[in-house]
Amino acid sequence: MSNIVILGSTGSIGTQTLDVIRHLSACKVLGLAAGTNLNLLRKQVQEFQPDLVSIEDSQDAGLLRDEFSVKAYSGLEGLLTLATDPRCDIVVVALVGALGLKPTLAALRAGKRVALANKETLVAAGHLVMEFKSQIVPIDSEHSALWNLFWGRDKDQISKIILTASGGPFLKHKGSLEDVTVQEALAHPRWEMGDKISIDSATLMNKGLEVIEAHWLFGFPYDKIEVVIHPESLVHSLVQLHDGSFLAHLGRADMRIPIQYALSYPQVVPSAVEPLDLTKCGPLSFLPVDRQRFPSLDLAYRAGRSGGEQPIALNAANEEAVRAFLQGELKFKEIPRLVREVTAGFSGKSFPSLEQILAIDAEARERARRLLQKY
Ligand code: MG
Repeated sequence: MSNIVILGSTGSIGTQTLDVIRHLSACKVLGLAAGTNLNLLRKQVQEFQPDLVSIEDSQDAGLLRDEFSVKAYSGLEGLLTLATDPRCDIVVVALVGALGLKPTLAALRAGKRVALANKETLVAAGHLVMEFKSQIVPIDSEHSALWNLFWGRDKDQISKIILTASGGPFLKHKGSLEDVTVQEALAHPRWEMGDKISIDSATLMNKGLEVIEAHWLFGFPYDKIEVVIHPESLVHSLVQLHDGSFLAHLGRADMRIPIQYALSYPQVVPSAVEPLDLTKCGPLSFLPVDRQRFPSLDLAYRAGRSGGEQPIALNAANEEAVRAFLQGELKFKEIPRLVREVTAGFSGKSFPSLEQILAIDAEARERARRLLQKY
């Protein structure tokens, strides 16, 4: 029996993790942490009866304490308390953005297995997190696919990693992307996801962040990590072997598969997801990325290769740009412009500490907000 803590339980990955746990008898929910969705957290507490809960606001924590017989915490302290509880075996980090950084490191230092859905942690602090390599299992679908493909195989047999990208909602969009709306950008053709990652998928920054994520998780240099557009989203990634052959990971575009694998790893157990019918899935296509139209991908490659402050600044500037776009303060095509402008001001110096990472993150956000006035 594994005791599970979910950080970000009311978000898209969090709710799907709970759905997986409904079908996994070997998992018990020990703790749930949410942001502001008190009502959904209430329902989750009723159903899963955790011992610990945490929510952003301390008054909400008080309400939960009065209503249920749980220990209720709030804010960052709450996330850290849940992530390091001695009874906990696996921490699912499903927080959005740089908020995931401290709780992930705290959980790793406390010896927990971390099922990591928060790619920003690897992007900003890959060098710190990978000290604890053996404790991390990725939830991101592409990296989960690669995790499967790498398992039990000598890394030296693999010449390249190929990440697949759906291409997002604007793959077949004709004309300029200048005036596309928030609603159009949120309408992802294949995956049901939160707002931040949906916009990142539309700009292809999501794939860029995933390239950096793959670099850290699998220890491959950037020139051996490629991206190919695969609109059907059935092949979740591939590896190329030295003999020129490929191994591909195929399955339904359903996050419950990678989530379950992160919880049951190294076991593969039956899931509630209906297997793909190969005779009905139609042709599979693979296309090159249009790098002019989607410049975010190369911004991420450049920042990843530079290392140091740049990936941290890239991630922070992107979070600010996406927030501004969602609030109608920035046009879609200005997202990569703002990210480029902010990132260029930071150096590629070597491996910053956690304190330095947080300072660089804050500085990049500040610069992004200042530059936003100009747009
Ligand atoms: Mg992904």
